[in-house]
Amino acid sequence: MITFDILTLFPEMFPGVLGTSILGLARRRGLIDVRLHNLRDWSPDAHRKVDDRPFGGGPGMLIRPEPVFRAVEWLESQGFAGRRLLTAPDGRAFDQAMARELAGETRILILCGHYEGFDERIRRGLKWEEVSIGGYVLSGGEPAALVIVDAVTRLIPGALGDPDSPKEESFSGDTLEYPQYTRPREFQGLVVPEVLLSGDHAAIRKWREEEARRKTEERRAR
Ligand code: SAH
Repeated sequence: MITFDILTLFPEMFPGVLGTSILGLARRRGLIDVRLHNLRDWSPDAHRKVDDRPFGGGPGMLIRPEPVFRAVEWLESQGFAGRRLLTAPDGRAFDQAMARELAGETRILILCGHYEGFDERIRRGLKWEEVSIGGYVLSGGEPAALVIVDAVTRLIPGALGDPDSPKEESFSGDTLEYPQYTRPREFQGLVVPEVLLSGDHAAIRKWREEEARRKTEERRAR
């Protein structure tokens, strides 16, 4: 069981994704627990404000240090000890290797920024692993947190219907996944490769390996 603690200004962004399909099932099966914490609960301000304008000028608003420090202190007082991820476009690139590594943890904290991001003291004063889900800028860390929870959860044994699913797919080995087909056998003149209908498992395995290698070379060469 992995417990995710998510610090966010917008907990209402999560229930749809967390309640549906594989993530919903993983929660109901007790494989993961996701605890959403609203940073505004730790605002130093009577109006629950958590952001303010940057010193020195410039566009947008920054998340102030107090709510984040107070939230982390509270989690620690509740016994939190685990990985701490801070979502940031300039962080370490999140990939399948990191997802695999996180799938072996029991406690993961994810901090979601918003607006222009964080007061730098949040990064300097608290220990974080800074993680980016890609080379683009989101309006908030919430989609990034959901990406991380999703990629990690599906690697927990029992999360997917077929325990072999994560073994053969893209990034599980040196190659991307081979092409796959289901019914119908012919669709708009496009046919399923004959070998997949042959019942010859050795030939199928060989075809898949070749196709995976071909696709990987083609895509990685770009
Ligand atoms: N001004 C910041 C961007 C802030 S975007 C900068 O230029 O670096 C607001 C928040 O969205 C960030 O604090 C972070 O939590 C989240 N975010 C944006 N892009 C992200 C990405 N690629 N990966 C992970 N989190 C991201």
